[in-house]
Amino acid sequence: MNTFGTPQRVLVRGEGAYVWDADGRRYLDLLAGIAVNALGHAHPALLRAVTDQLAGLGHVSNFFTTPAHVTLAERLLQIVTPGGAPAGSRVFLANSGTEANEAAFKLVRRHGGGARPRVLALEGAFHGRTMGALALTHKAAYREPFEPLPGGVEFLPFGDLDALERALESGDGDDVAALFLEPIQGEAGVRPLPDGYLGAARRLTAAHGALLVLDEVQSGVGRAGRWMAHHAMLDDAAGTVLPDVVTLAKGLGGGMPIGAMVALGEQTAALLGPGQHGTTFGGNPVAAAAALAVLETIEREDLLAHVDVTGKGLAAALREVPGVRAVRGAGLLVAAELEAPIAKEVAAALLEAEPTGFVVNPVAPDTIRLAPPLILTGEQAESFVTALPAALAAGRAAGTGTT
Ligand SMILES: *Cc1c(COP(=O)(O)O)cnc(C)c1O
Repeated sequence: MNTFGTPQRVLVRGEGAYVWDADGRRYLDLLAGIAVNALGHAHPALLRAVTDQLAGLGHVSNFFTTPAHVTLAERLLQIVTPGGAPAGSRVFLANSGTEANEAAFKLVRRHGGGARPRVLALEGAFHGRTMGALALTHKAAYREPFEPLPGGVEFLPFGDLDALERALESGDGDDVAALFLEPIQGEAGVRPLPDGYLGAARRLTAAHGALLVLDEVQSGVGRAGRWMAHHAMLDDAAGTVLPDVVTLAKGLGGGMPIGAMVALGEQTAALLGPGQHGTTFGGNPVAAAAALAVLETIEREDLLAHVDVTGKGLAAALREVPGVRAVRGAGLLVAAELEAPIAKEVAAALLEAEPTGFVVNPVAPDTIRLAPPLILTGEQAESFVTALPAALAAGRAAGTGTT
């Protein structure tokens, strides 16, 4: 179905941070399937995990469980809460980010029964495309053609704590079920929450009995140079200040489809009980084995530190490129804001670059997003920075943004 427009290339093969198209041209993949291929392409650890699991047991229904399913859930609790998950915490495994958020939406609807009909999200938020996740997504062009959507969602100005406080206090008693936040808004152009916002949002939601749901679908699993982007934002050395729910997907399976909703604490985790939610494929052992391989490899290859160093180097180098107005992000989730609205033209020029093209994403008219594999080397990042000025010139020449 023509929901994505015309594909830019037919890709046939990948290895590490590179992909090849059907004409044999090579590209440095700085998008990684939109923050998905955490270990790059054809990583031996991922291949082995998936092959071994499929050779043993490829699928069981959720009437049963598998070692991969259980081990992954335990491992997810560890990486979401390095200080230790509260007793009674639970994980729901799904197949995508939108499903993880859909599950979270259903869970928060159960909080407070009918007495808490309101759900808060931010302007610029992207939480997915199913009807519930879409109701939490701000962009009118995505949402409005599909109304009516599940009700009760209100969008607050990005990063505005006064607006949050007013929204929590304005209701009929404490009537907000939850606040959904992306620690770094990805689709809105890589916008990290301002300093101090998340900590204050945690205090305010707790004071009003509202759940705090963090959507780490794009920013989690090492992409920001931490296991979770919010770990750098809840300034709490002891790791005792926690969100109530965290959703994950994208990089988690390294390319296999998997999503997860992590509910912290007995009370929150008990909001969904037997029969209240379900999925046929969620927790599939092959996808779970892939996710375990991703997490093990990030640990074994010390990729969190690598992402931090490589990302800082890349951001610093991009700041020096004439025509780049600002650089945002954390780790290897980076946006370069350009001085002119020529991101599309620059991305097209980068794809055409010789001898190696570059896959990037024009996430906004003036912004290029990079979300490369976490294994990207410093040299590979540098090759992009070196190629960028020529692409900017080509983009300026082609673009309507020429002044
Ligand atoms: C991509 C994304 C989603 C949706 O995930 P899908 O796997 O595409 O359904 C949800 N939230 C955030 C923050 C995302 O970046």
